[in-house]
Amino acid sequence: MKIKMLNNETINKIAAGEVIIRPVSVVKELVENAIDAGASHILVMIEAGGKNQIIIRDNGCGIAYNEIPLAFKRHATSKLATIEDLETINSLGFRGEALSSVSAVARVQVTTRNEDEEVGSRTAFEGGTLINQRVCSYNQGTEVKVWDLFYNTPARRKHLEKDKKEEGLIRNLMNKIALSHPEIAFQIKCNGRIVLDTNGSGKVIDVVNVLYGWEVGSNLIPLDYENSPMKLGGFIGNLKMMRSHREDQIFFINGRYVRNLRLAQALDEAYAGYTMKHQHPFGIVFMELPGRMLDVNIHPAKTEIKIQNESLISLLFKQGIRETLRGSNLVVNIGAGN
Ligand code: ADP
Ligand code: MG
Repeated sequence: MKIKMLNNETINKIAAGEVIIRPVSVVKELVENAIDAGASHILVMIEAGGKNQIIIRDNGCGIAYNEIPLAFKRHATSKLATIEDLETINSLGFRGEALSSVSAVARVQVTTRNEDEEVGSRTAFEGGTLINQRVCSYNQGTEVKVWDLFYNTPARRKHLEKDKKEEGLIRNLMNKIALSHPEIAFQIKCNGRIVLDTNGSGKVIDVVNVLYGWEVGSNLIPLDYENSPMKLGGFIGNLKMMRSHREDQIFFINGRYVRNLRLAQALDEAYAGYTMKHQHPFGIVFMELPGRMLDVNIHPAKTEIKIQNESLISLLFKQGIRETLRGSNLVVNIGAGN
């Protein structure tokens, strides 16, 4: 074959394939946009595990009528201007890829009104192309409706899991987002049934109680520790809360959900001496680190995060957990020192 340039539609579909892998990717990107827009209420409605329809509605700042076409172009963002901004960025998005990617592989309708505008707008996209845009009345905020996901990339569609499994992935993601944003009231509906409803009180423990029940909530030890440059908040479980799996070890760094095996191992190690081997403590950990110690730019899905000097940080973390355990009646009761 001869070498030739790909056309734009093909380029966009390929790029979209990296960001939008399954329904949960759509939910993640759209909910992050709603959070970045300053919403205090976010509603997520999914049908058939998100395969049939996904609706995300927020009461954030909204998008201005004439910025809609641009918002759906690739690499268009209001959150980043220069590469230096990446060091101090505190928005969840910054690549300007989500809306263009979603609209490249699905049918999308966005209804929105910007805080500075009198009227709202409703715009339809299909396969990345704007089909029509009209003015309408709407409350301040944004609703994005996505349906027929992967209608134009059948191979992707074929590889989706059963509805229940896709729904599970979405609920799992939303639980983590709700934990990291207790100040936002989230409501999640799956096939019309409410599966998550948080009150937006700003207290993590309120979200924990909704997710895990009071029983778990009453077996938690608050985490409040500082050892420069690291700060810790959240909750760790007492000895009744030991698990054989790591699913209840959830880490957030600077508000972002991350997966980091080093930190998970450090959490386990901090309990050494109190528990049997191969048991994992419960932990919902909020770690704060200076932005310059992190590289969030390594993967579009952004759950992998690179920590500079990871061994020092996991050591400080382990110390923090041990001191917290020592200060709790857990240790007094058990009588295990050191
Ligand atoms: P990014 O989030 O990386 O900037 P997106 O493609 O997700 O890129 O969104 C493009 C732009 O559209 C955002 O920078 C933002 O200005 C605007 N936008 C997207 N979703 C919303 C929303 N729910 N409310 C307000 N503005 C939004
Ligand atoms: Mg975004």
